[in-house]
Amino acid sequence: MVTVMELYQLLPRTNCKKCGESTCMAFAVAMLGRKRNVAECTPLLEVNFKKQKEKLESLLLPAAGAEETGLIVHPELCTGCGNCVVACPVDVANDPHGAGMGCAPTNDKVIFKVVDGKVLASNIKECRRFGKNKVLCYACIDPCPTGAIEFV
Ligand code: SF4
Ligand code: SF4
Repeated sequence: MVTVMELYQLLPRTNCKKCGESTCMAFAVAMLGRKRNVAECTPLLEVNFKKQKEKLESLLLPAAGAEETGLIVHPELCTGCGNCVVACPVDVANDPHGAGMGCAPTNDKVIFKVVDGKVLASNIKECRRFGKNKVLCYACIDPCPTGAIEFV
């Protein structure tokens, strides 16, 4: 379970108030309670915060992702092996010369990528489990050796 301190430490921590909250800590608390979302912190859109933004989105994914796809990633179980990155058919289709070949992603269209030894899931709307024409795909969960990916 993600903590408010984990979220806070990934924020710019400048207390700029651009999100409308009085402090970055207040914004972190609101994000944890799913009252605010990552995109409402506009400084995170700056390129030097790209990694922090992706991590925040990943940490907050379980609830958001579970609503539509049922996909949950448990970062504490992930060893960063990259099996899921290569196994996801969307990754292969969207990035055949990067993730599709077991290399670093060459674009941002992939669902999975490994950052700092942990897999991050983004572009979740591309997942075959998303939306009204969903397919119950298991391609990412089956090759995960640690059970870090779960569908609920
Ligand atoms: S369920 Fe299928 S499409 Fe969705 S992330 Fe996993 S492998 Fe990719
Ligand atoms: S297959 Fe499992 S352990 Fe390997 S990167 Fe993906 S989630 Fe992590």
